[in-house]
Amino acid sequence: MVISTDVTVAIAGAGLSGLCLAQRLMRAGIDVHVYERDPGPFVRRQGYRLILDRHGLDALRESLPVPLYRLALATSDEPGGHLRFTDSRLRDAFTITFKDEPHATRQVDRLTLRSILQSGLNGRIHYGKDAVAVDGGGPAKLRLRFSDGGAAAADVVVGADGVGSALRAQLMPDADPANTPMAGVYGRSPLWQGGGSVIPDALRTSGVLSIADRPGRAFFFTSMRFGENPQEAFARLAPGTFAPTGHDYVMWGLLLRQDEVPTGISGDLLALRHLAGRMSVGFHPLIRRLIDTAELDATVLNLFATGRRPHRWPVPRATMIGDAVHAMPPFGAHGGNTALRDAALLGRRLVEALTGGTPVEDAIAGYQDEMVSYAFRAVDNSARLMRRLTGTAAAPHWVLTRVLPRLHRVTVPEA
Ligand SMILES: Cc1cc2nc3c(=O)[nH]c(=O)nc-3n(C[C@H](O)[C@H](O)[C@H](O)COP(=O)(O)OP(=O)(O)OC[C@H]3O[C@@H](n4cnc5c(N)ncnc54)[C@H](O)[C@@H]3O)c2cc1C
Repeated sequence: MVISTDVTVAIAGAGLSGLCLAQRLMRAGIDVHVYERDPGPFVRRQGYRLILDRHGLDALRESLPVPLYRLALATSDEPGGHLRFTDSRLRDAFTITFKDEPHATRQVDRLTLRSILQSGLNGRIHYGKDAVAVDGGGPAKLRLRFSDGGAAAADVVVGADGVGSALRAQLMPDADPANTPMAGVYGRSPLWQGGGSVIPDALRTSGVLSIADRPGRAFFFTSMRFGENPQEAFARLAPGTFAPTGHDYVMWGLLLRQDEVPTGISGDLLALRHLAGRMSVGFHPLIRRLIDTAELDATVLNLFATGRRPHRWPVPRATMIGDAVHAMPPFGAHGGNTALRDAALLGRRLVEALTGGTPVEDAIAGYQDEMVSYAFRAVDNSARLMRRLTGTAAAPHWVLTRVLPRLHRVTVPEA
């Protein structure tokens, strides 16, 4: 439904959740603007793949125009597949199978999804705008302030500025995320090398978490195959929108303890790749090959944190969505899905309030109550899974790396 309203919404952050919310509100005819700190849309590679589950896909279906949702599905990997937990030599411990249904789970490329989410928002995304605070309250408009001294007036302000949120201290003052002992060095490598797939057929549709012989270390990898070439799919379904190149790739992540990461290394991509190489000694040769052939500029360091439940929201017409509220370690693939779910829920609540003539403050408070309940279940699940798979408790590690793999055949023979 399209509504006529003079309400304006300012969103800080053009990541997954901020853009998804902007799409939802724009479809309803609400004047929405997104303010992004980066100077342009694709300055950082962030070229990893995301597993979208039912919540993430439902949120996209609800928020995007039909051709853009179809574009997300068309460019995604095939539905279904497996997540295998193995020892360091890729011997299976156990496997989870995903539902083979089009709207149940899909692997998508993050850059491609971000491009889809930007489509049609022309003139509504403002780059180089580093949000620092929200001023005002009462009946007057709020002002979203930027580090360059400028400000944007809006009736509602939404912080979607990710895990390092600058707005969080003001909008959720009791909920700074807690550090965890774990970190990840992430990278990507071409899937097709030397005329064939670097991933053997037995793992074609699998994500793999390979757990090291020593507790507190693991290696994750999965391949991303574009269902349809993005250039062709964009030309068909969103002509005029920038389409990323769409070369199939393998995304990988070396999980290690934060105290093993040298300080000041995060901007030094070569040093990060060397660190991954050093820490993967003892893993299967396939894993070492992935690190050796990594595309350097896609290497990133991520220090895992867990969000804390907010109890106070001091600015009634300002709220937050996504990682800015509920940072979580990337175990269980909940972060992006929960962020998209927030965007769809907040969008729905705001549109209902504006069409029904009820206070937006109530809509925002209703969103916050519902979001905190499901989002912090996801935070707890991710943290629990991280502890189980990378914790130092001897018994679970022994079962995962010594007992269960002996019960299975060798999945990837070593040449
Ligand atoms: C390697 C890796 C793999 C992952 N895999 C999955 C997965 O399979 N499934 C899943 O659900 N999740 C996954 N995640 C998590 C997922 O990517 C995040 O949870 C998701 O991107 C959060 O979306 P967001 O909109 O909250 O924040 P982001 O997407 O991080 O966007 C925040 C935006 O805000 C901008 N910004 C920051 N500060 C400011 C400021 N002060 N002013 C203005 N703009 C600002 C940033 O530049 C950025 O564009 C993965 C994460 C990583 C690192």
